[in-house]
Amino acid sequence: MQKIKGSCLCGAVSFEVVNAFDKMFLCSCDQCRQITGSAFASNLFIAAERVSWLSGGADIVTYQMRGRDISKSFCRVCGSGVPWTSGDGSKMIVPAGSLHAEPKVAEKFRTFVSEQPSWSSCLDQVEAYQGFPP
Ligand SMILES: [Zn+2]
Ligand SMILES: [Zn+2]
Repeated sequence: MQKIKGSCLCGAVSFEVVNAFDKMFLCSCDQCRQITGSAFASNLFIAAERVSWLSGGADIVTYQMRGRDISKSFCRVCGSGVPWTSGDGSKMIVPAGSLHAEPKVAEKFRTFVSEQPSWSSCLDQVEAYQGFPP
């Protein structure tokens, strides 16, 4: 099985994962908006044993929301999201943006579109540039 690598921005935390993800949630719920600071979370799900850490285990910090199965792991040096374990320990949730190659995903879903903020809808109608606007 082909593996791909991922890391945080500063490179302290790195991992590799089998490139055969079960599903992807592009989640616009209020909790994902706040925890990412962005329009939606892009989370891939895969069996826990298919992810192996290459470096930086000691630099990973995990936040667990009290009373909810909502958590996030991030690099304590640069703050980037890195994979974390699901509540029951069976799955790893991999932030898609942490990967260095295109993930292969069996099923993709947009979730909680009812909570999507208006500033992130109809993005095809927002002026777009290859880089910064002139
Ligand atoms: Zn980092
Ligand atoms: Zn969510």
